[in-house]
This record gives sequence, C-alpha cells and structure tokens, in this order.
Amino acid sequence: MERLILFDIDGTLTRSRDGYIPFNEAIRKTFGVDGDIRAVVPDGNTDPMIVRDIFLQMAIDIEISLTQWRDFTANLRASYHDHLGRGTTAIRALPGALELLQALAAEESFISSIVTGNFEVTAEVKLVAAGLAPYLRRGAYASDSSHRPDLPAIAKRRWEEVKGRSLNAEHCIIIGDTPKDLEAARQNGMKCILVGTGRYSIEELLYWAPEGCIEDLSDTGAIVAMLSQI
Ligand SMILES: [Mg+2]
Repeated sequence: MERLILFDIDGTLTRSRDGYIPFNEAIRKTFGVDGDIRAVVPDGNTDPMIVRDIFLQMAIDIEISLTQWRDFTANLRASYHDHLGRGTTAIRALPGALELLQALAAEESFISSIVTGNFEVTAEVKLVAAGLAPYLRRGAYASDSSHRPDLPAIAKRRWEEVKGRSLNAEHCIIIGDTPKDLEAARQNGMKCILVGTGRYSIEELLYWAPEGCIEDLSDTGAIVAMLSQI
C-alpha cells in the first residue's frame, strides 16, 4: 500500500547551528528593525508567524505587505546562502535522517515529501546543505500558507497531481517534532509520528498521543516497519 510520508524539517530532519544569524539579518534588511528570533518560541511555527511573534513581542504594530514578504523571503534565502558559505551558520542532518530517507526511497510503496513552516526557498537551502534534498519530493511550505494545518492537504494534492490519482489521507503520515505537527496531521485526518530531537522530550510528546513516538530517526528498520503498520 502506498504511503506518503510528510517530514517536518527543523528539529526532525535537520538541526541548525546559529540559525538565528541569517533570520535576524533578514528581518533587519527587510523591515529595518533589530528583531530577534531567540526571543520567541519558533518550534512548529511557520516563518511568517514567527516574524509576527517577534514584532508582537517588540510591541511593533506593523501591517506587512506582500512585497515585504517577497523581500523578506529573498533576503532570508540570500542570508542563509551567505552564512552557510562562510560557516557562520551550519545545518546538518539529524542522526538517521539520511539513512531513513534512503531506505524509504528504495521501497516503491513509500513517497517522502515535506510539510514545513519554512518558505520553499529556505527549505531548499536547508535540505541541500544537509544533503537530504535528493530524497524528497516537493511538499508544502510557509510560502503556500502561514497556517500550518493548511499545509498537509497541499502536499497531498501536489503528489496526487504528479501521480494522476488520489490518495487517502489515512495513508499519509506526518513526522514532526512538536504538538503543532500533530495538530496539522489531526486536522487533515492523517497519522503522525513525533520525534524527540526538537524542543520537546519524548515524555512531553507522548502526552499528545501520536500514533508513534521515537527518540530519534536512527533505528531505520524499526521506523520503516512502524510506517508500514500504522
Ligand atoms: Mg520542527
């Protein structure tokens, strides 16, 4: 049976070192203010909502135009590219992420894709930097909607358009690291596995009762088996 596996990026497939540097730089370049992503909880949120949280926290009341969002996206991509090149920020695949994606790619019944709060261009920069991009189909991103629960259905529809047939939501499994990933799965009738490699411990994640809960992605065989069974 075909299964669409929708991976979150930050805290699930990858971890960034000093990722705040390009993010804060893009805020400064675009909006002319010294916003700081470290002052908010970005986990599970989409990039536009993170920017709004930062402004809210600074008591800045700003109506962000479409042009500004476009500029911010372009600046964010350029800043990531620049800082990754200089080594001032780094993005690496979390343990087992590469091996799991390779194992899934080897099985015809699995399709690996993305549901992330990153804009598509920054998701691409991160996945290329972590060496994971070749194994992931186009999914859904903050550039599609700033409301995370909108994204799983968009990723599913993109897969259906490519394949020319429909896929039952029950055969889609989101793998994420926050209750927000689970909430997005639930609102779309999809299953969810949570991984304890982000902000939340496995004990906290278990409280939300996902279909699966794992420490990290390192046990490839067990995860592939879990994905086949749930
Ligand atoms: Mg995450």
